[in-house]
Amino acid sequence: MLNYEQQEKWSKIVPNWQSPINIETLNTINVDAKKKILLFDDEYRFVNIVNKGNNLQYDGKGKAVIEGREFGFQQLHFHFPAEHTINGKDNPMELHFVHQNMIGQIAVVALFVKLGEFSKELDSFFQDFPAIESQKDPFSATLGLNSLIASLESGVYHYLGSLTTPPLVKNVEWWVIEKPITVSAEQLDKLKQRFNHGNAREKQPLNERKVIHYSLI
Ligand SMILES: [Zn+2]
Repeated sequence: MLNYEQQEKWSKIVPNWQSPINIETLNTINVDAKKKILLFDDEYRFVNIVNKGNNLQYDGKGKAVIEGREFGFQQLHFHFPAEHTINGKDNPMELHFVHQNMIGQIAVVALFVKLGEFSKELDSFFQDFPAIESQKDPFSATLGLNSLIASLESGVYHYLGSLTTPPLVKNVEWWVIEKPITVSAEQLDKLKQRFNHGNAREKQPLNERKVIHYSLI
């Protein structure tokens, strides 16, 4: 029975659902999506780039419809190496597209990056960066997330977690795209030279959470 005289103890029974996690494909719930789960504006428009010290934040505008609910795109940033893993497999980098809806619910679309072919779509993101911490510069670029993700013919993993940087906000929806995009070694090096210390949070325990796999987005 809940003890209403000791409500301060309730917080101890809140599940600790944090991110990132390792996704074990044998333990995911497989769902055949009847229609598109993730829909993005044809183009996200980026307006600013901010030097966040150990990260770069690209502020932008755009809309996503996630499971039929509308979210506004807010910003893109990177992690070296990738924070999530699938069956323990590391990727050199992970992109986080952060979205929020009208009541403050956060949904992050995570896209793995591996070494391979030059990425024309991402190249403008690997150019000049603001040199000083907290410096914000105008940044003009567009990114067609729909076509970029559709070209991967990828499934997506979905689970509930948190932001991976303080304040580690909980109840964040994660949509982790299964297949990576590629960038060239030269492109990756440009960012790595600048952020060579790495900025990935350690893996967090899954606890009693479930991860859903949609076969095609
Ligand atoms: Zn992130």
